[in-house]
Amino acid sequence: MRKNIVAGNWKMNLTYEQGVSLFSEIVNMAKDEVVGEQEVVVCSPAIHLSSIAKLSSGVKNVHIGAQNIHEAEAGAFTGEISGAQVKSVGAEYVILGHSERRAIFKETDALLAEKTNAALKNGLAPIFCIGETKEERESGRFFDVIKTQLEGGLFHLSESEFKRVVLAYEPVWAIGTGLTASPEQAQEVHAFIRKTVAEKYGEQVADDTTILYGGSCNPSNAQNLFSQEDIDGGLIGGASLKSRDFLDIVKVFN
Ligand code: PGA
Repeated sequence: MRKNIVAGNWKMNLTYEQGVSLFSEIVNMAKDEVVGEQEVVVCSPAIHLSSIAKLSSGVKNVHIGAQNIHEAEAGAFTGEISGAQVKSVGAEYVILGHSERRAIFKETDALLAEKTNAALKNGLAPIFCIGETKEERESGRFFDVIKTQLEGGLFHLSESEFKRVVLAYEPVWAIGTGLTASPEQAQEVHAFIRKTVAEKYGEQVADDTTILYGGSCNPSNAQNLFSQEDIDGGLIGGASLKSRDFLDIVKVFN
């Protein structure tokens, strides 16, 4: 049985105080309101991680993650953060391959393969993002783009390594734009992703893989998206910065 996960991606938002305060609200609401088995994951900027890890410790279903790591173990990489460092403050997840990292910071599939190795080596579960741009959707090439991202970033992994990965389908044209993929559009791609995983790792692994949808997901559209057969939760940007909205999305799985 695959897990349902609702993960928040705070991106480069919130001061330390604002982040700790938002996270406290999320934890308190989760304690009172989350009755299902879904996991709540908050991926904060690195400066919040150690404090929010303490606030979440022992709270059922609430986990934390980073938004990026460097591929090396340690060393002379000024300004960077390693998987071991992220793990050492209590994080369990790391977002890798977000379209903003791919587009703005020029992260390639080959680099993401290395980052994935670094995450797994340090006991972090990657939330690995894939998705096409507007132009790739309009030209009809999106299945190829997604397959290439899976092959280049992940398909070097052994079966037991791949089983620790969470996938997130995030059509770039839907991120932060208010344009959401329709449930049917998203389901079509999620089914394709699962089929592609099945061809590589077999039906059982594909069945057990959690595939999140991301891109302008909010409390009004989450129900319709998450009710699709192959959509197992969401990666939430803007709406994860408001505790009520975020919890309402989490509670779709109650
Ligand atoms: P959004 O961001 O929900 O604000 O569209 C999603 C993401 O970038 O992960």
